[in-house]
Amino acid sequence: MSIQENYNIIKGRLPQYVELVAVSKTHPVSAIQEVYDLGQKVFGENKVQELTEKYPLLPKDIKWHLIGHLQTNKVKYIAEFIDTIQSVDSEKLLREINKEAGKHNRKINILLQVKIAKEETKFGLEAGEAKIMYEKFLNGEFPNIAITGLMGMATFTEDENQIKQEFLNLKKLFDELNQLNPLETLSMGMSDDFPIAIECGANSVRVGSAIFGRRDYSK
Ligand SMILES: *Cc1c(COP(=O)(O)O)cnc(C)c1O
Repeated sequence: MSIQENYNIIKGRLPQYVELVAVSKTHPVSAIQEVYDLGQKVFGENKVQELTEKYPLLPKDIKWHLIGHLQTNKVKYIAEFIDTIQSVDSEKLLREINKEAGKHNRKINILLQVKIAKEETKFGLEAGEAKIMYEKFLNGEFPNIAITGLMGMATFTEDENQIKQEFLNLKKLFDELNQLNPLETLSMGMSDDFPIAIECGANSVRVGSAIFGRRDYSK
């Protein structure tokens, strides 16, 4: 199927209130432009270098989300233009983003990435750490960032009950932090599990291969 058909199918499956982040990693600028021309404005990339190469070649009203693990020494390369960093998994990184955003007199939106999967390979904060960081933010410690929500990735498994349980754990934390001060975004769900994520309370999903096709890492 074409990218256009894929995109329309995904859009048709998402309730109105759910934000779609089109994950374009490994795919060429031409494919991103094609999806942009269909009306999509929010795109996700997972590598700083790839993002900084694509950014100048694409329309400036795209809202870029970084969704991959970010090293503190690379924040400076994206601080000027990144809309949202979904993958904040340490306080050190939060401080660095705050500092770099300040240099550009802007505010960067942040999602705290919480570890909900059982896999060792996945990054993320413990629930308690996320809560402490959110409290520090609410106390005014990071004036150049806005913590707007939480992000999580479920275990890569066929077991839908396990995926559901992991998403529900994150929803629970989201509700808890939301009591302290309202949050906007609960980012859960990818091509294979976004319907479960929405069922569990996600209002933002990150969909790549179901739109752009399979990724080819050999190039
Ligand atoms: C690649 C990626 C996605 C999209 O994955 P698909 O299965 O292609 O939809 C979503 N979230 C993160 C963090 C990713 O790295």
